[in-house]
Amino acid sequence: MKNLFADIIIANTNVDRPFTYIIPEKMRDSIIPGCPVLIEFGKIVKKGYVIDIRENTNVDVSKLKSILSIPERELSADENLLSLAIWIKHRYGVSFDKAIATVMPVRSEAAERVSNEISLNIDAECLDKKIEELIKSRKTAWARVLEELKTKTSLPQSFINKELKVNSATLKKMEEEGYIVIGSKKRKVNPLLPILRSLGIEDFNDVIKPKEYTLNVEQENAVNTFKCDFENCSRNTYLLHGITGSGKTLVFINMIKYVISKGYKAIVLIPEISLTYQTVLRMAEHFGERVAIINSKLSKNEKFYQFERIKNDDADVIIGPRSAIFAPVKNLGLIVIDEEHDSAYKNENVPTFNVRDVAQKLSEITNASLVLASATPTPETYNRAMEKEIKLLELKTRAKNTALPKVSIVDMRDELKRGNRSIFSDKLRTLIEDRLRKHEQIMLFMNRRGYSSFVSCRSCGEAIKCKHCDVTMTLHNNNRLVCHYCGYSIDLPKTCPSCNSKYIANFGTGTQKLEAMTRAEFPNAKVLRMDTDSVSKKNSANDMIRDFAKGDADILIGTQMIVKGHDFSNVTLVGIMAADTSLYVSNYTSAQRTFELLTQAAGRAGRAKDGEAVIQTYKPENYAIVAAAAQDYKRYFDNEIAYRSLGGYPPACHMLTVMFSSIKEEELNKCASETVKIIKSEATFKKSMIIGPTEPSVSKVKDYYRKLVYIKNANYDILLNIQKKIEESLGNYRNVGAIYDFN
Ligand code: ADP
Ligand code: ZN
Ligand code: ZN
Repeated sequence: MKNLFADIIIANTNVDRPFTYIIPEKMRDSIIPGCPVLIEFGKIVKKGYVIDIRENTNVDVSKLKSILSIPERELSADENLLSLAIWIKHRYGVSFDKAIATVMPVRSEAAERVSNEISLNIDAECLDKKIEELIKSRKTAWARVLEELKTKTSLPQSFINKELKVNSATLKKMEEEGYIVIGSKKRKVNPLLPILRSLGIEDFNDVIKPKEYTLNVEQENAVNTFKCDFENCSRNTYLLHGITGSGKTLVFINMIKYVISKGYKAIVLIPEISLTYQTVLRMAEHFGERVAIINSKLSKNEKFYQFERIKNDDADVIIGPRSAIFAPVKNLGLIVIDEEHDSAYKNENVPTFNVRDVAQKLSEITNASLVLASATPTPETYNRAMEKEIKLLELKTRAKNTALPKVSIVDMRDELKRGNRSIFSDKLRTLIEDRLRKHEQIMLFMNRRGYSSFVSCRSCGEAIKCKHCDVTMTLHNNNRLVCHYCGYSIDLPKTCPSCNSKYIANFGTGTQKLEAMTRAEFPNAKVLRMDTDSVSKKNSANDMIRDFAKGDADILIGTQMIVKGHDFSNVTLVGIMAADTSLYVSNYTSAQRTFELLTQAAGRAGRAKDGEAVIQTYKPENYAIVAAAAQDYKRYFDNEIAYRSLGGYPPACHMLTVMFSSIKEEELNKCASETVKIIKSEATFKKSMIIGPTEPSVSKVKDYYRKLVYIKNANYDILLNIQKKIEESLGNYRNVGAIYDFN
């Protein structure tokens, strides 16, 4: 028989190229691209991944080794995921090994297997035929197991060992050959159950029958456009842009139903499962047990079990955070990214991808459609819609015939002038009292980001900015203000540099302080606080949300956590305590984050009854605040895109952020500045804008010093070349490493 060869990437090595091995005859049927294998590499047995299978090789065959074995119980990335890994490698300039580790599904450790349950892994229809075959080939033990499994969904391994007299080694073989699945009992628990239980629903089948809403005209149009395209084999990317409460969820649920009816499956990404349980519940209502959930809090085994359910075709819809995009789904027809603007979609580790971009690629590889849903899409995505690269589906009215909340802006500088030093403006206080009297609920939102880190004047509203750059300076522990873009620093002044007022303050009050003040101001109100400090237990966020939804508290105080996707019908007032805080984060996305938060927060008001929102700010003229108050996305976008174009930020330009780090400060500084010099001197990089090296907001982490360099260019490939050049330069410095973030 002719030889067959496999190109294999070796895991956990720095050698970034494939090696060729011979595929032993007995493995020919089981080895496919994406398959993990064990091989001998430099006299050590190592794990690798098959990336290609070929009939020929240029290498001398007598020098090649054979693949040793296929490791047990691993889900291999299928070919699509492998293509995706190759794309990730190139797109984010990471090694093959890293790229494959990124897309590889979770693995289950054999040691974790306790109290095993044995279940069938072959279709019921062909069971009798298989049993017959086994008896013919004298594998009677195998036949006994299958016979017993005919009527049961699963059996404990101990029962099979004792009663059927089939030993564990045989079971293992049966599993290897795909007859059965050996799983632990624990894995059989559907992760949806804890979420349902927290809502007082004990039985999965009790899940409330979906309310059969008739789609309104706008929803209908959106779904129909999608269906028509799908029917005509046109798989597109869509931006589903709908104001808060417009019923986006129902739209994509209908799209998913359609795709399933055509024999396809769907992946739905949500920002953070514990905070979006209502979306999960609604999916469960509509798709019942054919939902698989991937949750960062699941154990490895539980995750593995969910992946197995997906592989075994036990689920049509996979819901999960970022990593769920790498679920081993066959026949993918649709990917939905709910709240596509959410920062949770950005992978903070290398490769620092935004899952939106990965999903776009995966949809191209698998010929699936992609739907990005948001009330406040990222400027990048909206810009693509404006450029007609992707299709825009719009929902402009609220689904339940309630008006958008009435939003007013309160200028906190005026309050101060009138002598009101409280964190409640007179207007907000009056409205809170009114709602308490009417037994309606109130949400008070406070931004977690940015507070305490910058300094602003309470008289004139100015925040202290760098002389050389258009950014706010950051207060460091040593009472110095530092510019994170150019490194310029000054002592914390005693009076405002603009107006000389002495009411200059380290901005911001934390949620705890807000809670105390709320209790003091409204002693009869029941107050609930929800933030990362108060939420620690596994389902505690769900518990709090449920309690509040049931009416157990009058006022819910919280950070970002409370604005995400919740639909509280009795909330008629939302107070936004310090709208400005996110504006002063020294990053080009600060206005975007502010607009998102304010729009989402205000959108919480009046989901069922008419609502009102009050935005308290020291910067009432800022475009993000003005547009959020008007609930006018287009107005925000026009301003934002102008700002991005002017500053050369995405989407106007691509930006590569390089974080150099080293335990040796001097070597780091030398390396960073020399490397920048090299890039600047390279003719082909001439059109790039290079900023830095500068200090990051945290200049030392775990004894590693860090330096930042920003490089902007409209041409992404040039940034990739620059990255290569930087890597070359890094070769001269033993103790310096770099992390790359492409935007
Ligand atoms: P969004 O995600 O766009 O903010 P939701 O999907 O949460 O909006 O929908 C808001 C509310 O409107 C939900 O309570 C939902 O059940 C309801 N809803 C959605 N579509 C309809 C419809 N066609 N008829 C009646 N109610 C609807
Ligand atoms: Zn001032
Ligand atoms: Zn500066």
